Amino acid sequence: MLGLMQDRPLLISSLLTHAERYHPQSEIVSVTCEGAVVRSDWAGIARRARQAAQALRRLGVKPGDRVATLAWNTHRHLELYYAAAGIGAVLHTVNPRLFPEQIDYILNHGAAEVLLLDTPFLPLVDGLAGKLDHVRHRVLLSDALPEGRADLACYEDLLEAEDGMLDWPVFDEKQASGLCYTSGTTGNPKGVLYSHRSTVLHAFLCCQVDGLHLSRADSTLLAVPLFHVNAWGIPYASALCGAKLVLPGPKLDGQSLFDLARAEGCTFSLGVPTVWIGLFKYLDEAGLQTRDLPFERVLMGGSAAPRALLERFHAAGIHAFQAWGMSETSPVATVATLLPHHRDLPKASQIDVLARQGRAMFGVELKIVGEDGAELPQDGSASGELMVRGPWVTSGYYGGVGGQVVDEGGWFATGDVAKIDAEGFVTLTDRSKDVIKSGGEWISSIELENAALGHPAVEAAAVVGVTHERWQERPLMLVVRKPGAQVEPGAILAFLEDKVVRWWLPDDVVFVETLPLTATGKLDKKVLREAWRDHLVR
Ligand code: ADP
Repeated sequence: MLGLMQDRPLLISSLLTHAERYHPQSEIVSVTCEGAVVRSDWAGIARRARQAAQALRRLGVKPGDRVATLAWNTHRHLELYYAAAGIGAVLHTVNPRLFPEQIDYILNHGAAEVLLLDTPFLPLVDGLAGKLDHVRHRVLLSDALPEGRADLACYEDLLEAEDGMLDWPVFDEKQASGLCYTSGTTGNPKGVLYSHRSTVLHAFLCCQVDGLHLSRADSTLLAVPLFHVNAWGIPYASALCGAKLVLPGPKLDGQSLFDLARAEGCTFSLGVPTVWIGLFKYLDEAGLQTRDLPFERVLMGGSAAPRALLERFHAAGIHAFQAWGMSETSPVATVATLLPHHRDLPKASQIDVLARQGRAMFGVELKIVGEDGAELPQDGSASGELMVRGPWVTSGYYGGVGGQVVDEGGWFATGDVAKIDAEGFVTLTDRSKDVIKSGGEWISSIELENAALGHPAVEAAAVVGVTHERWQERPLMLVVRKPGAQVEPGAILAFLEDKVVRWWLPDDVVFVETLPLTATGKLDKKVLREAWRDHLVR
């Protein structure tokens, strides 16, 4: 017998309609690429999103069509999140930090006919002229067009021509809503195609107390780009709960984030560890204290949260925690939160808990498997490939790229290597392609990097496996020293001695000026491995 409850679809437009009705004055603050601070609210965003939706329709966008963006975190990009999905089209956010040939590939693969871009990306798009086969309309996300650019349309002009009188259409919640390509550190980037249902369910998770704890009380500084896995779902979750949203535009440097966070009383922020390293660098240079930050909570994700960062936030009374996920999981899948029996532990032990990747949120199922595919025990010591399934986990890539990506049980292989303990806490030891295999045993590069970051002279550290005659591979540590810091390799190794098992100690520590980062701000270990492969056999 079926239940008799109403079968209303979970549509992204319903989030905005709710925010407009119940949180109309909750603010949206946006820094544009021109440096202006634009103040709006959920009512204003909702009105302009309807105008943008009308404008997209006028450009010929139909349900199922892709609408591409090359844009920073601004109110206009946020409006497009709702405008495109609201009319049944698919918002295809493209990461502008990728190489032009990757952007070319992604735009052609997504085949959007409308591309909306921020002014700083005009040279990039001009450079791809003649290559973007599908794009019929280029729309500049600005107030006015540069002289002599009749080939472009101006976003504000398009909106001005519309009256905003639009009723969001109702359709199947399984319709596609967003398309986001993974960086593709190996092979071509692959598109993850989200649905309205997966997006709305994921937004609920972000607002759970033991999830990201987002609420109406928050003023959220969005330091993760809107082109990086839907800014971790926050644009949707903020509408669901009516949180204030602060969009920093193109400037994600320490000083810009600090000033904006202070000016807007931001209680919550989220971003990759690189962002927080930059913020602390600025605080140190400017003689500011961590407690000068207005945040109550800070979420790190995208790569392992260095313990030293967690400690620094907590010492100032800011609850820093981490979540794990990937483009393929919308992205949030696990969140590290303290359980009741952790509450009375000393701070250092609590940070041990928060330094792990966390536990599965409702809806997400996890297991680890060995090389033969057999499930391994969740005992905190067995380590294997992390497998995931759930209603906001991908079942296949856009266009069938990569073929069948889930097994017959519906499990998606993440490419991450992890341990899971009896309470369900996940500890990620590596990405499978970054694992260091020394004499047949695995060494965790993440654990070594984390330990090194605890040294006061270390600003950044990366560990990669390099060729070794006897052990096939041994760890090499590359370190960026803090400005003015004096330290020798021996001192770093001595510092690590009581933090990791002896045979994990790197065979060498090399000081470098900078470490290469991927387009999503993570250490680019592929580049490092290629550059340093023969370091120990020269
Ligand atoms: P890209 O590789 O394009 O940056 P994703 O953002 O999808 O794509 O990256 C997902 C990967 O990031 C995960 O598979 C994992 O390796 C890493 N990652 C994400 N969150 C964490 C975390 N909290 N700790 C360690 N690694 C993480």
